[in-house]
Amino acid sequence: MDGPIIDGNGRATGPIAFIDRDGVLNYGRNGYVNHPEELKIIPGSGSAIARLRAKGYAICVVTNQSPIMRKLWTVERLHSIHQELRRQLLAEDENAIIDLIMTCPHRNRDRCGCRKPWPGMLVKGNNILRNENKVNGRIDWAGPKPDSWNPLDAMIGDRKSDMGAGWAVGARTFEVSDRLGLPQVIDRVLDENDTGDFYDPMRW
Ligand SMILES: [Mg+2]
Ligand SMILES: [Zn+2]
Repeated sequence: MDGPIIDGNGRATGPIAFIDRDGVLNYGRNGYVNHPEELKIIPGSGSAIARLRAKGYAICVVTNQSPIMRKLWTVERLHSIHQELRRQLLAEDENAIIDLIMTCPHRNRDRCGCRKPWPGMLVKGNNILRNENKVNGRIDWAGPKPDSWNPLDAMIGDRKSDMGAGWAVGARTFEVSDRLGLPQVIDRVLDENDTGDFYDPMRW
């Protein structure tokens, strides 16, 4: 297996909210979320997704899940975890619909283009949701922030690697605490005048 896993479908007619999973939509765990029973959403993340949808955002979850290439568990397990994620979000708000879940199954040593901070999952998510055919461009981490596809595109995550991936596609970047998640910044993301957190990829 290689490349990202696509677990859903949708169309973007407006901006895209790229959202990390662990520590943003659900509580992360030491040593991964390994089973649906270990998944617990951060309260408020379902309503936050519904608010994004109501404002015209498409929802693209982008998650690094190296346990797959570490052979700890299978893609089928991943799908069962994501099924539970959707169930809990929808239980909180019936409009908490995720368009697309992109997963990078790789480890650092696999040197893929999708493991964040590399933006491959965001590029592929953009291509699917906007019916485009972009490829990973060369990234100059020391250069200026690239132009965005849509000025309101946003990347929300709890790690610098999330910020890097968002930066690499010119998105507004919002860093959250892994205990507070998406609800911590939802008002800011929805504020069209908020250009996101300052992020310098050369100074992690
Ligand atoms: Mg995370
Ligand atoms: Zn990858």
